[in-house]
Amino acid sequence: MTQTISTNSQGHLTIGGVDTLELVKEFGTPLIAYDVKQIKQQIAAFKEVFIKENVSYRVTYASKAFSALAMYQLIAANGVGCDVVSGGELYAALQGSMAPEMIEFHGNNKLPAELEMAVDAQIGCIVIDNFQEIEFLDEILTRKQQTIKVALRITPGVEAETHEYITTGQSDSKFGFDVLSGQAKKALEQLLANPRMQVCGIHCHIGSQIFAVDGFIMAAKEMVRILKQWHDELGFEAQILNLGGGFGIRYTKEDQPLPAQDFVKEIIRVVKQEITQANLNLPEIWIEPGRALVGQAATTLYTIGSSKEVADVCHFIAVDGGMGDNIRPALYQAKYDAFLAKDPLAKPTQVATIVGKYCESGDVLVKNCELPDTKPGDILAIPSTGAYGYTMASNYNRNPRPAVVFCEDGQAKLVIRRETYQDMLAYELSLR
Ligand SMILES: *Cc1c(COP(=O)(O)O)cnc(C)c1O
Repeated sequence: MTQTISTNSQGHLTIGGVDTLELVKEFGTPLIAYDVKQIKQQIAAFKEVFIKENVSYRVTYASKAFSALAMYQLIAANGVGCDVVSGGELYAALQGSMAPEMIEFHGNNKLPAELEMAVDAQIGCIVIDNFQEIEFLDEILTRKQQTIKVALRITPGVEAETHEYITTGQSDSKFGFDVLSGQAKKALEQLLANPRMQVCGIHCHIGSQIFAVDGFIMAAKEMVRILKQWHDELGFEAQILNLGGGFGIRYTKEDQPLPAQDFVKEIIRVVKQEITQANLNLPEIWIEPGRALVGQAATTLYTIGSSKEVADVCHFIAVDGGMGDNIRPALYQAKYDAFLAKDPLAKPTQVATIVGKYCESGDVLVKNCELPDTKPGDILAIPSTGAYGYTMASNYNRNPRPAVVFCEDGQAKLVIRRETYQDMLAYELSLR
């Protein structure tokens, strides 16, 4: 997906055909504005490859990237399932009209109450992460006289090139069963021996914001090798091979990720080739994009406030949001571009550091940002904020979380209203 900046006849930034200056007049700032068509196009791009290659598949949206009722409704309407990693996400997905059968449950410490919720809802698949979970789940299923589909999460020992905080495929990860030590096979044996758990396949997720296909190829090869081994040793026949998400997106001009389709094309090619060689039946191939479905689809709009010149060092420009609505720069040193909504293509005249309004020196949104002259009241746009932005938002310093709008065909629809001061006190009880 290319980063295309759309403008209207006045030269203003538009999102989904809506003038962003009009958007902020109506909804205020900070505002997270999604271009719905972009999300639909990404979904279509992923699906198209599977369809062309005539492979049974499922695209499962990793809802931690952006979990909202409107989002679940949008993907459900477009034939995409979702994965959830908590009871809260499961509840939201069900409320967002996601069919239970299309929901997968991930996590390294699913609570008994959360597992019970998943069993009660009869979701599509619980991705088993550790031995404790097998015990918890067995107790629940026995007590309720229920069955459920499960998959086995394994760490194939593949390390994708990415930031160390967001790699998960290596053996020392906190997620999943290690293969080399024999843990994974032992877990599978336990699951196969349990009549209440129907083992449908195996899963791995090698990391996030991955730009090259090599990691996926290595993982696919290793997963098929494991399937072959377990087929021969245990008679295990997997219906599903889930290769996780992690497809990289473009945050700044420097980022050059592969298009989503190219990742999928390669994954399918390698899985087909290895499965044929191993003389196995081709399982359904599942992928779990989070960031790639929503990341580039949203832009955050801020109002510029104060600024400060530190002689010969830098020029700070402060906006009315920051780490409370986008913690990724502080958490992962994530990089973003920024420009003015009234004229995105204006010639830069300064190099500034965009900071937020939170009481942390690390509350920096963009370092060394080239901008034209700015003044208080200007609207600053930061693109590619659609993933892990709102879902990681906080009320630090008692700043309300922003509003979220879905824009499409020139229409804007409020999907999450701006938090109010009253909202922030909603759970608090007075001493008097
Ligand atoms: C986070 C996560 C994903 C999605 O990762 P993205 O980088 O957003 O695509 C997919 N699967 C699992 C198990 C995850 O934990």
